[in-house]
Amino acid sequence: VMEKKADIGLVGLAVMGQNLVLNMNDKGFTVAVYNRTTSKVDEFINGPAKDTNIIGCHDLKSFVETLKAPRRVMLMVKAGPVVDQFIEQLVPYLDKGDIIIDGGNSLFNDSDRRTHELHKKGILFIGSGVSGGEEGARFGPSLMPGGNNAAWPAIKPIFQSIAAQVDGEPCCDWVGNDGAGHYVKMVHNGIEYGDMQLICEAYQMMREGLGMSGDEIQQVFAEWNTGVLDSYLIEITRDILTVKEPDGSLLIDHILDTAGQKGTGKWTGMNALDLGIPLTLIGEAVFARCLSAQKEERVAASEKLPALAAKFEGDTQEMVDAIRDALYASKIISYAQGYMLMREAAATYGWELNYGGIALMWRGGCIIRSRFLSNIRDAFDRDPSLQNLLMDDFFINAITEALPGWRKAVGTAISLGVPVPSFSSALSFYDGYRSARLPANLLQAQRDYFGAHTYERLDKPRGEFFHTNWTGRG
Ligand code: NAP
Repeated sequence: VMEKKADIGLVGLAVMGQNLVLNMNDKGFTVAVYNRTTSKVDEFINGPAKDTNIIGCHDLKSFVETLKAPRRVMLMVKAGPVVDQFIEQLVPYLDKGDIIIDGGNSLFNDSDRRTHELHKKGILFIGSGVSGGEEGARFGPSLMPGGNNAAWPAIKPIFQSIAAQVDGEPCCDWVGNDGAGHYVKMVHNGIEYGDMQLICEAYQMMREGLGMSGDEIQQVFAEWNTGVLDSYLIEITRDILTVKEPDGSLLIDHILDTAGQKGTGKWTGMNALDLGIPLTLIGEAVFARCLSAQKEERVAASEKLPALAAKFEGDTQEMVDAIRDALYASKIISYAQGYMLMREAAATYGWELNYGGIALMWRGGCIIRSRFLSNIRDAFDRDPSLQNLLMDDFFINAITEALPGWRKAVGTAISLGVPVPSFSSALSFYDGYRSARLPANLLQAQRDYFGAHTYERLDKPRGEFFHTNWTGRG
């Protein structure tokens, strides 16, 4: 019988798996590893894992036998059926109370199903979002675990010590039951789409609308990164704008303007449509990528469709400040919408989500990390049952201050013919959300006119329905 000495086992030695294992080893945990292609186990043990306590295994049985009880097995393999295949192969070697963790980019519905299926077999399942890419995995990712909460105490010490730390707090906490961890990771990715689109709109506004040079724009991002917009994505944008070609031109001016996507933003948008939540900013960000992909059509249209737009004639610095306000206010709207979606998901799927904790988990390690997330956490500290971020005093003040610049930037973009789908849809959402009265009265009348769908009246109790014979014809 082999000595049981590993604290945790990890299956899947691609880049993410290797880096997580090295991170766990650094933090003093003994890790056993397995990979389908076993030559990769040897390459890892004799390469990056040389001189560590990491234990390489060539079959799942000996791998499981190396683990201390309750056994903790983390899968870091390709998302989808491969995860189910490994679960099926592992279960015969496991005992009741053992834990399987899936750290891949799985759909939350799959994690829901796996939590329930394994629960019936006495195995505790965790589906955990892992964000921060290779670098995060190696030196401190954001970790968003959900699933069977009976497993949390057993993985908490490992997860919280390998996670990114901000102000002495780990960017990892229990998210909620079943698929909640992977759900929150999905929303994180959607928010990432939105944040990136907002920065791109600010950039295009300065480049095309105001005619600023790349170096001037670089300076603006460098300055923004020292204020309320301080974040990883602004920081890398600042740095991207310093990279030049041998001829002195900026590298980004040579990059094809066609965006790719792997689908997590789309999943977030689709889920918002399913749940009936106006997640407009992330939706626009996904569609902006789709429009960018229609490069040939756009080039053809650029020759035929007129702009009939004005030329910018105002004060550049004033407009740059207005664009900053637009970016900040739109970002607040995006996160408010993301939180509206998570609140609805919690109600629909029966989760108790840790809203402040989610902001804390996103504050470091991941792509959307920013100073701003501390403000969100503070808002939920002040009022854990906060209905909407926009109703928190800090955000009311922030929006109030940014609003004049936001309106000015959007108005100017429209008159200059620069597309700002996220800035402008965020502003429309804001104006809709703060409207006690929307034109849905007319919409209800139309529905009643052509389809006898009935309507309610302002002067009668809710739930009392009326129908009008609009044409007066019998
Ligand atoms: P990956 O390319 O997604 O997956 C490779 C791993 O999956 C290898 O261990 C591979 O084993 C195994 N695998 C693939 N197909 C298999 C099959 N049919 N049967 C058995 N094993 C199979 O690797 P990754 O980029 O490190 O990502 C791992 C997971 O983390 C994924 O779910 C990914 O979406 C997620 N993730 C990635 C990032 C990132 O920045 N890359 C960030 C967060 C989350 P072999 O070596 O035998 O092929």
